[in-house]
Amino acid sequence: MSEVIDLLAQLVSIGSVNPMGRDLSGPDVLETGMGNFLEQWFRENDIPCERQSVEPARDNIIARLEGGSRTVLLEAHQDVVPVDNMTIDPWKPTIQEGRMYGRGSCDTKAGMAAMMTAMRRLKIESPSDAPTVIMACVVDEEHQFTGISAACRTGLQADMAIVAEPTEMKIVVAHKGVVRWNIVTEGLSTHSARRDEGVSAIVRMAEVIPLLERYHAEVLRPRTDPMLGNATLSIGRIQGGTSVNTVPNRCEIELDRRLLPGEEPIEAIEEVRTWLREQGDLEFEPTFEPPRVISRALRPPEDQAVVELLSESCDAVLGQHTIEGVAYCTDASVLDHAGIPSVVFGAGNIQQAHSADEWIEIDQVEKATEVFYDFLLRAGRVRTPESIR
Ligand SMILES: [Zn+2]
Repeated sequence: MSEVIDLLAQLVSIGSVNPMGRDLSGPDVLETGMGNFLEQWFRENDIPCERQSVEPARDNIIARLEGGSRTVLLEAHQDVVPVDNMTIDPWKPTIQEGRMYGRGSCDTKAGMAAMMTAMRRLKIESPSDAPTVIMACVVDEEHQFTGISAACRTGLQADMAIVAEPTEMKIVVAHKGVVRWNIVTEGLSTHSARRDEGVSAIVRMAEVIPLLERYHAEVLRPRTDPMLGNATLSIGRIQGGTSVNTVPNRCEIELDRRLLPGEEPIEAIEEVRTWLREQGDLEFEPTFEPPRVISRALRPPEDQAVVELLSESCDAVLGQHTIEGVAYCTDASVLDHAGIPSVVFGAGNIQQAHSADEWIEIDQVEKATEVFYDFLLRAGRVRTPESIR
């Protein structure tokens, strides 16, 4: 087994489930085990690292290898999505027909293993023109992006960043953002036998929903980005009522609004509120709860150096490169808005991320490691404007 696949197997065998707001507990939940492993791994490899507490049992591990003046940030998230409906043992990495199976194998422990292996190789070979490399292994990417947000708040800085996600070895320079919040309708509870004396919060919500659907169709569908398609609003969850013989006094829906580059999350929510006021003939005012997930879109970097260098590395290792935009969100947008030109790149297909039998092609993980290492070498060699003068 190659070094990177051996490391990947170790990472997969450590559960790091993100509860995603649910009441989950157990040894496989949260990032404690992962944090411990990562800290020890960097120490063993003589790469200084710090442990940054984000929430209880959730620590970012940030390693730093000193080199030249240019600083490259490699970023990968520690958490994985829950394992409820998996058809394989999530924490028992198995290799079959060139694939490794297990939760997180694709999203995104493959990327993390590839980045760590490339960093370790840089440490061992220590070429004279190596850049300074920061590897940020952050918590809570899958739900609220608190890990990368905390890292940026405490001054994480770099000249460029690559965020590991399964992009099929394509260079992702743009993706949508997301904001999620609840809308609540309230009513008046009575016994169902006396329903005319009550007010049904469910029936009220039934008036709100068609207005939201029309908002998506008329306002958001025509709002498009050349790389990313259109903005969207989707109702993902509904909950209301306590028993069949009670008129419900509360109904809530959870909304997922995907943002295009340039759209601001809070403004996007306010636009929905205004739409309901202006387009609806509602006799009540639905309540908008504060958003629980906010992530802006990733904009193509103005400073193209990271795209150019990574393209060259892909050409060298894979014989070609592809640049694209994707629909899903990543930590890269947080870095982008913190002023670090960022792209997303890694082995594996997003189709296998979060899937019931999550897997990754071993060959791609090994190639990704080569790409990351080549990238680090190129990034170190890049001459700054001062050195050209
Ligand atoms: Zn991911």
